[in-house]
Amino acid sequence: MAPMISVREGQERILGQVAGPVPPEMVPVTRARGRVLAADVEAPFDVPPADNSAVDGYAIGSADIPASGTRELDVIGDLAAGAVFAGALRAGQTLRIMTGAPMPAGADTVYPQEVVERTGDRVRVGPIAKGVNVRMRGEDVETGGIVIERGAVLRPQEIGLITSLGLWQLSVYRRPRVALLSTGDEVAEPGTPRRPGQIYDANRFALRGSIEQCGGEVLDLGIVPDVHAELSGRLREAADMADVVVTSGGVSVGAYDLVKTVLGELGTIDFWQVAMQPGRPLAFGRIGDTTFFGLPGNPVASLLVFMLFVRPALWKLGGRRRLAPPSWQARTTEPLRKRTGRREFKRGVLLYRDGDWQVRTTGPQGSGILSSMVTGNCLIVLEEDRGDVAAGERVTVEPFAEPF
Ligand code: AMP
Ligand code: MG
Repeated sequence: MAPMISVREGQERILGQVAGPVPPEMVPVTRARGRVLAADVEAPFDVPPADNSAVDGYAIGSADIPASGTRELDVIGDLAAGAVFAGALRAGQTLRIMTGAPMPAGADTVYPQEVVERTGDRVRVGPIAKGVNVRMRGEDVETGGIVIERGAVLRPQEIGLITSLGLWQLSVYRRPRVALLSTGDEVAEPGTPRRPGQIYDANRFALRGSIEQCGGEVLDLGIVPDVHAELSGRLREAADMADVVVTSGGVSVGAYDLVKTVLGELGTIDFWQVAMQPGRPLAFGRIGDTTFFGLPGNPVASLLVFMLFVRPALWKLGGRRRLAPPSWQARTTEPLRKRTGRREFKRGVLLYRDGDWQVRTTGPQGSGILSSMVTGNCLIVLEEDRGDVAAGERVTVEPFAEPF
């Protein structure tokens, strides 16, 4: 009998054995979204590079601001964004200035154009606070500052900030390569006819998307029948070309569960019973220096085991700094059955109502009911020491929505 371990123990063992990040590569900023930064980005200059106007208006030196009443100033020119004023403002002078144009020498304050009265080459102005409507040099980013740290996932806003520094290529970790295959004589390829007794492959396609969402590159090796020689050949091939091999099916105790046997021959395999529901069996091992995950065949279990064990491993391999998904507390609107001593995961519908996060289950929770993952938008996580939960109690929820 395989040893029984907790979810946390399994996660720690796996992260302890997965080696550091894959090597970096350079990519243009246009291909960087969703990638993981492999080197800190340092600002080569201040952003903005000069004090500049935050509005369309009139730039003046604050000595010219009337304390009360109004006064008239001479408009000595127009300054568009992108232009630089060569001279300096003198007393009694103003310059019409556009948003983003660098402040002329001698000016420190801008009147929005709506608050002045212009007649010909003169404007009438009233009191205004000194220094307003000016964006200061370096107020966004200062020279030498670390703008984005290594290990950050690049969202559109990170990319915008990086290009504001004039950079156009970046060092990111290469995508971890993940070879993926389904096992089972009964598993048929979608889009092809199905023999009696066969089911269409759900896992390989759900897992493909999951791997891609984690930043991995999928090498799809299709479906392998429960035949020793075929499985052995395909796994060897998979290990040769990938950083990680993921299979589904064939890891329970059924007569055709070959994955364990074959892995034992090709490399090393640990076969764990994880104290969780659903998704108990997990095979974890190595073929050469490739990491192997054998996920359960039941679709819900395979996705759940992926989220709990494969995802953090891929994140670590891919160089990501944060390895934990977001989670928080919500109030369950229905009672939940729970057996102590194991961690249970239910598919939930989470919503914010009446000033509180509320959650209910999606209905039947069998580990073959994949539609529960479609109806649901979160996992309800019931910790090991917990027993039955009454309606109204607080529970941990983990939203499905990928941050990226
Ligand atoms: P196994 O772990 O191979 O005994 O599979 C457990 C259950 O999951 C069985 O009902 C299988 O038919 C089902 N199953 C296995 N692989 C897949 C797959 N790729 N897609 C959908 N269901 C699967
Ligand atoms: Mg099978």
